[in-house]
Amino acid sequence: MVENKPTVLIVDDVSVNLALMSAILENDCRTICSDDSAQVLSLALEHQPDLILLDIMMPGMNGFEVCERLKANPSTSRIPVIFLTSLTEEEDEERGLSLGAIDYITKPFSVPVVRARVRNHLEMQRQRDILERLSSIDGLTGISNRRAFDQALEREWLRALRHESPLSLLLIDVDLFKQFNDGYGHIAGDDCLKLIARTVADQAGRTADLVARYGGEEFACILPDTCRGGAIRVAEKIRQAVAALHIPHAFSSVANEVTVSIGGATTHPSKRIDLAEMVQRADAQLYESKNSGRNRISYARDDR
Ligand SMILES: [Mg+2]
Repeated sequence: MVENKPTVLIVDDVSVNLALMSAILENDCRTICSDDSAQVLSLALEHQPDLILLDIMMPGMNGFEVCERLKANPSTSRIPVIFLTSLTEEEDEERGLSLGAIDYITKPFSVPVVRARVRNHLEMQRQRDILERLSSIDGLTGISNRRAFDQALEREWLRALRHESPLSLLLIDVDLFKQFNDGYGHIAGDDCLKLIARTVADQAGRTADLVARYGGEEFACILPDTCRGGAIRVAEKIRQAVAALHIPHAFSSVANEVTVSIGGATTHPSKRIDLAEMVQRADAQLYESKNSGRNRISYARDDR
């Protein structure tokens, strides 16, 4: 990756302040500027900045209210907020910090001190992100775990609602895996799961896609902004790619190699349908695939 700088969202109703802060931080970060406090939540949702520098005195919604909204939304609550303000009263600072801001800097400020504080907060955020990532990885296969899947599905669901875009989900189950484990032993079983995890991840290769270990020998694939036809194509690629691994499975009644069954569902999110229902629909299709001979894809009807 060429551009690996953290992103900082700077909010101030005075444009000269935006230009100044941007110039101060330009070597360390990519900056996004906004002079409209009403836009902050949507900008934060969209860009997921690593840090937000927030003015307090602004027309319309003030910085305290903006901070409250950011902290109340699960998709933005983890983004650190630093108040940068001319309000120097102790009670303002206390209020800002108790709203969940990580720091409170008063104007006029020293440029090197602000730069150093921003750097420190970005570094802490980077370390939090590393820990977060480690706790969301499945130890055996190295892909996302169930926890990360649940979070990602929720996040993508909200995003799909906002953009009114389709969201697809595939559930993938290794056919007769218990027989594989019993016949070849657990070490071979683990190797098989690792190989399949990598293969599934290779086929759902867009950055937005998320492949996770859903259960023992079950994988899940979240395909944002993907319609039913597109998701079926991905499912077919996954099924074929696993078959092409030619992992021998002498104990399978389906084939003499390891195969997978896939169930899928696409939804056009609306507030009427909930997330659990979508997972259930994909799961019902997986059951259908397994019941009708395995090594195949079953896909729910379009819900439009
Ligand atoms: Mg202001």
